[in-house]
Amino acid sequence: MSQINLTRRQFFKVAGSGVGVTSMTAMGLAQAIDPVFAKPYKLEKTVETRSTCPYCSVSCGVLMYSRKDSNGKMKLIHVEGDPDNPVNKGTLCPKGAGILEMVESPNRLQFPEVREPGSKEWKRISWDEALNRIAKHMKADRDKNFVAKNAEGVTVNRWNTFGMLVSSASNNEAGYLSHKVLRSLGVVALDTQARI
Ligand code: SF4
Repeated sequence: MSQINLTRRQFFKVAGSGVGVTSMTAMGLAQAIDPVFAKPYKLEKTVETRSTCPYCSVSCGVLMYSRKDSNGKMKLIHVEGDPDNPVNKGTLCPKGAGILEMVESPNRLQFPEVREPGSKEWKRISWDEALNRIAKHMKADRDKNFVAKNAEGVTVNRWNTFGMLVSSASNNEAGYLSHKVLRSLGVVALDTQARI
């Protein structure tokens, strides 16, 4: 077994240089001595925004980092769990970890579109037109398919040909109102995106 012989003076010299390197690293000076640390910091010049994952009622806290792109527009570049949030303490499930892709996806729909019967093309429409069309289709379908009584004559008031997916990130009041309105119309198939 080899043995290293150091004088007391030599020992303090080696120990001192070790402390010096450790301190330099802690002070962010590691870039100066190790090229591995010379890469630019990923979150440099970003704006940090606290938010809540929109996917399910767990409501994990997220930190969102944005930076100006070459056109001067803020662009989301990184998302991670908020370590200070008591719900998730910095963790995210795979859905939450994919928020960046949802926000910045080139396939993301950002306005309503309609494909008219017999057409192959999707056409952009206004939000007002979209809501009016949806209301019109809902009424026509309900008028046609609403079931007031079942085969035994028992009142059931069901609208089985329509379903609604509401937001699991809604607050209690919005959830209560959605539930009341849809159940009063006879909607049975009511769910949130938390189960998808
Ligand atoms: S989808 Fe995942 S990350 Fe988002 S709130 Fe639910 S558990 Fe949290």
